[in-house]
Amino acid sequence: MKHPGILPRVLRGITTLLLVALVLLCAAPAMAAPTPGTGGWYWPTATEDFHGWSGWWDFRGYCWHLAQDMHSPAGKPVYAVGDGTVLESKYVRGYGPGGGLGGAVVILHKTYDGVEFKALYGHLANLKYGRGDTVKAGAVIGTINNSSPNHLHFGIHPGKKYPSDNNPYRGHTYTKSNTYGFVDPVAYLRSHYRIDPYKAPTVATVASVHTTSTALWARACSGRLFWAEAAESGPQTWTCSLPNGTAACVEPSQTVPVHDSTRYFLTVVKTEPAIVVKDKMPRLSLRASDRTPARGKAVTLSGSVKNSAAKPFVHARVRIERWDGSKWTYVTSSYTSTTGTWSLKYTPPGRAILRARFIPPNTYSTGVSASLRLAVSTRSSLPW
Ligand SMILES: [Zn+2]
Repeated sequence: MKHPGILPRVLRGITTLLLVALVLLCAAPAMAAPTPGTGGWYWPTATEDFHGWSGWWDFRGYCWHLAQDMHSPAGKPVYAVGDGTVLESKYVRGYGPGGGLGGAVVILHKTYDGVEFKALYGHLANLKYGRGDTVKAGAVIGTINNSSPNHLHFGIHPGKKYPSDNNPYRGHTYTKSNTYGFVDPVAYLRSHYRIDPYKAPTVATVASVHTTSTALWARACSGRLFWAEAAESGPQTWTCSLPNGTAACVEPSQTVPVHDSTRYFLTVVKTEPAIVVKDKMPRLSLRASDRTPARGKAVTLSGSVKNSAAKPFVHARVRIERWDGSKWTYVTSSYTSTTGTWSLKYTPPGRAILRARFIPPNTYSTGVSASLRLAVSTRSSLPW
């Protein structure tokens, strides 16, 4: 029997899911090893915060910079962005103190889909690898040397071959029209991934769902329709393939009942869709291990970024922001794992309103966010 109320219910359910974002207080935990960042790359100075030094194509009065400089103190490790083979590793004039000899390494890396590029790591000391060595992603290849100011010179040259002038260590150009094949390294890594990123599935257009009871919500993904309804034991998820047959397509941890094809039937109308489920929309969740922590006590903030079919957004950056009374300010960030989950520890300085935000890559249309309040136990009231 048909339930006229199901379409608004479905729409409400979808809207609710999209709006459910959790906000929590967080701070990045101390990490001994680097964590992959955008694109799954191990960023060479273990951060993507590069401000303070020369960026790509900065003009220096007489030349243009062919790399991204990354501020880092002398002695700090430099990491290989991915697996690779060392093409060059030696001490080169210009990469040391006062423009003298300093370590420079060129490694041939690959993106997840096999695109080769060379990365130049300059201003190094303590070179760990020699020409021909293989390097693992995230391995320490050297340390920042004593150039002033202390920084890593990081360049990228796509392809396997050396620059046309056969100088793999080139760091700048005097000719504005000639980059010698170098490209903006940060933009390159952010658009060429080390790990296959999540791709949203195709989405079915569902006109209506007919059941003998009232569905709590319904969604579609990859040609399958699934919905939940209140049963004696609580909400249950039911699945069915479109246009025919049954299939498993359920939320994690939910029990799938035996599908009863006589109880349900589906109507798919592709020409006049009543519901369009935008399955590319991410769902962001956030939990706090303790909503009222004692002063000085850390809480664990965790959650996930997944789509409505529970497919994870891998290596997605989740920003944690705090409301300062007039605007949201950045606190810290985390990246989702291959299962779409993220977690970090945060010690709130006082009561706080926190927000987690996911700003999707270009291939996804809409970001999501949500906020939450943490109250630190204390006898005196604290400002927000
Ligand atoms: Zn530089």
